[in-house]
Amino acid sequence: SQGGNRCQSFTFAFNIKTSRASENLNMEAELHYALERKELELYYQPKINLETNLIFGAEALVRWNHPTMGRIAPHQFIPLAEETGLIKPIGEWIINRACRQTKAWHNAGLDFLTIGVNLSGVQFKQSDLFHKITQILFNSSLEPQYLELELTETILIENIKINIQRLNLMKKIGVQIALDDFGTGYSSLSYLQQFPFDTLKIDASFIRNIDSNEVNAVITKTIIEMAHKLGLKVVAEGVETKAELKFLRECKCDIMQGFLFSRPLIARDFKNLAFDNIKSTAKNYNPNHKH
Ligand code: C2E
Ligand code: MG
Ligand code: MG
Ligand code: MG
Repeated sequence: SQGGNRCQSFTFAFNIKTSRASENLNMEAELHYALERKELELYYQPKINLETNLIFGAEALVRWNHPTMGRIAPHQFIPLAEETGLIKPIGEWIINRACRQTKAWHNAGLDFLTIGVNLSGVQFKQSDLFHKITQILFNSSLEPQYLELELTETILIENIKINIQRLNLMKKIGVQIALDDFGTGYSSLSYLQQFPFDTLKIDASFIRNIDSNEVNAVITKTIIEMAHKLGLKVVAEGVETKAELKFLRECKCDIMQGFLFSRPLIARDFKNLAFDNIKSTAKNYNPNHKH
């Protein structure tokens, strides 16, 4: 593939490649059955409103529970799902599962919860994605404003014009859009105004030690101020310490997500935590509370 008249040595790399390839082949074969064997599971990580201390919503995070390979993290199989085209059924399953679960929570009395769903690049490019999401929202009866699609900059910078149109279409039906991992991609500030974002999620790498790391402190503070001036809500990702949280409060960050409050949970545990959270913040709780 590199053209003729070339000499290339690749014994060592070849060995690594073949063993990786066979590992992937095995995973790929298994991934084909993951859905029908019901091996995929959504975990939900709480997002906390820093003004009210109430759970604002959740981010859905997929896990693959394989009978022999164990629990497989999304970064290990989402790329494979993209390469094989399996991302289409898997991605649809994720959106559907997340919307139905959120509607069930609404029906149980937690009617303010929002749900963040991550979209991969290949998934976002699917021509019928908009149609699918509309269908899923209709079938699950979840009001569209409670669904927030999380997308990264890297997904969006190819074909900017088309992507803006696609996002505007989603916005038209009332779905919210979040820019995920902000600061790790190309981060052209002009995108923030060009794309119809509602929320900006500051990547965990900037949140780390913001209380002591001056560079991170300045960056985070500036991002929050700028986002607010542009009318965006700000989520801090990966908050792990009280000191980080304190700093975020001082910067008027809107929402936090991270191990400090909770790890991603299975649906039942998330629901229990949300009810406990309401009880423990009861003195500030307004039953008609909406975001
Ligand atoms: P993300 O969307 O930025 O999700 C946040 C990741 O940070 C999650 O990892 C979460 O478990 C982790 N995290 C949250 N709080 C903390 C913290 O305080 N400390 C640390 N060290 N980590 C924290 P996870 O679940 O492994 O997901 C990794 C990435 O995989 C996600 O990044 C997202 O890009 C992708 N992903 C996850 N679920 C899905 C999915 O359903 N569909 C697609 N297409 N991608 C997904
Ligand atoms: Mg995300
Ligand atoms: Mg992120
Ligand atoms: Mg990420």
